[in-house]
Amino acid sequence: AVDLLTFGEALVSLRAPGPLAAGGALTMHLAGAESNVAIGLARLGHRVAWVGRVSEDELGEYVLRQLRAEGVGVDDVTRDADRPAGLLFLERRTADLTRVRYHRAGSAGSALRVADLRRPIGDGARVLHLTGITPALSDSAREATRWAAETGSRSGMLVSLDVNHRSRLWTREAARAVLAPLAAHASVVIASADELDLVGEPGSDESTAVAGLLARGVETVLVKLGADGARAYTRDGVRQVAAVRVTAVDTVGAGDAFTAGYLSGHLDGLDLAGRLRRAVTLGAFAVAGHGDWEGLPRRDELSLLDGHETGNTL
Ligand code: ATP
Repeated sequence: AVDLLTFGEALVSLRAPGPLAAGGALTMHLAGAESNVAIGLARLGHRVAWVGRVSEDELGEYVLRQLRAEGVGVDDVTRDADRPAGLLFLERRTADLTRVRYHRAGSAGSALRVADLRRPIGDGARVLHLTGITPALSDSAREATRWAAETGSRSGMLVSLDVNHRSRLWTREAARAVLAPLAAHASVVIASADELDLVGEPGSDESTAVAGLLARGVETVLVKLGADGARAYTRDGVRQVAAVRVTAVDTVGAGDAFTAGYLSGHLDGLDLAGRLRRAVTLGAFAVAGHGDWEGLPRRDELSLLDGHETGNTL
C-alpha cells in the first residue's frame, strides 16, 4: 500500500505572461490541487499514487508524463477516449493580478466515477486525501468522492479533506450541502478562514464551525491564513504558527503545498508543532517560486529557508 492516495482532475495549464487577448507565447504546465499535493509528497520521498481520468490524446499523455517524472504512481489512471483534457488559462494581467479561465466542463477528469477508485482504495493507503473540488465536477465525481471518504475512513485510512471552494463550479449553498457531510468522514480538515462555514452551519464563525467539526469526530482543523501562517485546532486547543518569511512571487499552489507539508509530517510521525512547521515551510517554497508546484523542495532542501534572508547566495 502507498503512503498517500489522492484523486481528482489534473488540468493542463497554459500560462500567458501578459493579457491573453494580446496573444503571444503560452507555456504549458500541469495543474490541479490533488496532483499538486501528490507531487509535494513525492518530492519528499513518500510513496504516492494519484487517480483520475485523463484524455486519450497527447494532452493526457503530457499529464501522465509530468506525474511520472515527479515519481507519482499513475497505475490506476483511466484514459478516456471520449472526452477532452481539462484546460486552464492563467493570464498575468498585472504584476499583482493573475486571471484564471477554465475550460473543464465535460472533461475527461470530470467523468471520474466509483469504479475508477475501487482498486486503488481496495489496495489501501495510510492517508487518503480529498478536495472539495472533485465533488463539484459532476454527479459521478461527487458520488465517487463520497464513496471514497466513507470506504477510506471505514477501512482505517487517515482521511484528509481540503475544502478548496471553487466558486466557478458551484454556489456556497451547493458546496455546503455536499462538503459538510463529507467532512464528518475526515480526520483532518483544511480550509481558508472564509471556507469554514462550508463545512459547518451557514454563516457560522470560526470557533463555532471548528467546534462543530471536532464534535463530529474531526481530529485536526487547519485554518490557512496566507502570509499570516495558520491556526491548528484539536481537542487540546488552538495553536498558531507564523508563516516563513520569503519574497512571494507567485501565490498559486500555496495551499496545496501547505497540505503536502502537513501530511508529510504526519507520515513521518512528527508531533503537531513539527507537522505545522513542515506545512508552512512548503507553503513558503510554493510562494517563493514560480509555478504551482515546480518550486517545492526535495527532502534535502527542507532546511533551505531556515534563517532565510533576502539576497543569500548558497
Ligand atoms: P491557494 O489557494 O493560492 O493555494 P490558499 O488560500 O489555499 O492558497 P494560503 O493561506 O494563501 O492558502 O497559503 C497557505 C500557506 O502558505 C499559508 O498558511 C502560509 O504558511 C504559506 N504562505 C502563503 N502566503 C505566504 C507568503 N506571502 N509568505 C510566506 N508564506 C506564505
